[in-house]
Amino acid sequence: MKLILAALSFIFVWISFIADAQASLIDGGEPVRVRLSSFKEKIKLTGTGLRIQNKEEPFQIVAIPQKSEAEVRLVHKNGKSHWVVRLNNKDPERIFVDPFLLIEGQGLRAEAKALPNKIILHASSGSGGDLIGVLPLEEYLVGVLASEVPLSWPLETLKAQAVAARSYALAVMKERKNRAFHVESSILDQVFRHVLSEDDKSPLIDKALQAVRETKGLRLLTAKNQVLKAFYHSDCGGQTTTAKNVWNHGVNTGTAVDSSCPSHPGSRWKFQLSRAELLERLKVAEFKALELIKPLHEKRISAVRVAFNDMEQKVIPANEFRKLLGFQELKSAAFTVVMSGDDYIFQGEGFGHGVGLCQWGSRALGLQGRNYKQILSHYYPLAAVK
Ligand SMILES: [Zn+2]
Repeated sequence: MKLILAALSFIFVWISFIADAQASLIDGGEPVRVRLSSFKEKIKLTGTGLRIQNKEEPFQIVAIPQKSEAEVRLVHKNGKSHWVVRLNNKDPERIFVDPFLLIEGQGLRAEAKALPNKIILHASSGSGGDLIGVLPLEEYLVGVLASEVPLSWPLETLKAQAVAARSYALAVMKERKNRAFHVESSILDQVFRHVLSEDDKSPLIDKALQAVRETKGLRLLTAKNQVLKAFYHSDCGGQTTTAKNVWNHGVNTGTAVDSSCPSHPGSRWKFQLSRAELLERLKVAEFKALELIKPLHEKRISAVRVAFNDMEQKVIPANEFRKLLGFQELKSAAFTVVMSGDDYIFQGEGFGHGVGLCQWGSRALGLQGRNYKQILSHYYPLAAVK
C-alpha cells in the first residue's frame, strides 16, 4: 500500500510538473525558468524534505523528510551525461540519467544562496550544468524588483517597474519556450535573486510584493496587441531612444525626455584607456583615427568609424563598441572622446542602452506624484497597459 501511495504521489508530482510547463501564458500559469548559476562538476544542496527525480524512465524519487544535504555530481561517460546523487554524505549513490534533474524541497540552498522551492539541474551542452529556478511569474517579479531597483523608491515607481519586468518576462518566455531556461538572472535579462524565503518579514519586501500584487497580470501591449518585450535601463541621461537605434531591430514604442536625468550617482562618467588597452579591446593591431558618428538631434552616437589607414576603415555600431570596451565602463552611447597624451578619455552621461523605461527618471516621476500608468505611458507612449 505504501508503495502504491508513493508511486501515486510521484505520478501526481510528475503530472503537475508537466502541467506547470504546459500551462497557458494567458492565465499566468506557466512558471518562469530562470538560470541562477552554472557549475562545473558538482553542486551541494541543502533543504528539508528534498525530493529528487528524473524526467525519464526508470523514474526514481528520493524523498527525505528531515533536513538533508545532497551532493549532485555531473558525470560524462561514453558521450552521455548523468547525475550521481549522494545524500547526507552516505552511500549508496543514486544515478539519474536524464539531462534534467528536478529537485524540490523547503528552504533549498546552494551553499549560502537561497533558492526557490523547485529547481532543475540541467546538463548544458558544454561540460557543466545549469542551476535553474522554477517559480511562478509573480513570485519571480518580486525577486526582480528587489534586485533591479532600491525598494525604498516610490511605490508607483516600483509598480511601473513590475509591469515592465512582467512584460519583458512574458515576451521572452514565449520567444524561448523550448530552451532549458527562459531568462538569465543577470543584466543579460533581468537581475533576480530569490528573496521570499530569506526576507519574508522585511517591510521592503512587503512593498515589492504590494507592487507586484497591485499590478497583477498587467502588461504592456504593442500596437499589434502583442506583449511588449519591454526594455528598461538605469539612467537615460536626459532622453531615451528606440530599440532600432541601439540594436537595429525591435518595436518602436516611442521615446521620452527626462528633465531630471542624469540623476543616477554614477551617470556623469569618465573612463580612460591607454592606446594599447584600446587596441586590445577593439581587437585590432593598429588604427589611425577614431571618429564618433552622431546623428543630428540625437544625444547618443550611432557608430564609431575606425580608420586603419587612408583606404581602409570599419564602422562599429555604438552598442557593439560599448560591448567591446565594456558595458559597465563605457556606460552609455552618449559620450565624447578626447586624447590626453597616449590616453583616450571617454566622457559621457547616462547608464545603460537608453531604451524604454528609465529607472532613475521613473523614480523622479514617482516622487512628483505620478502614478504607475502615467510613468509607463511617459516611457512607452506607443504601447498600452492591459
Ligand atoms: Zn531618465
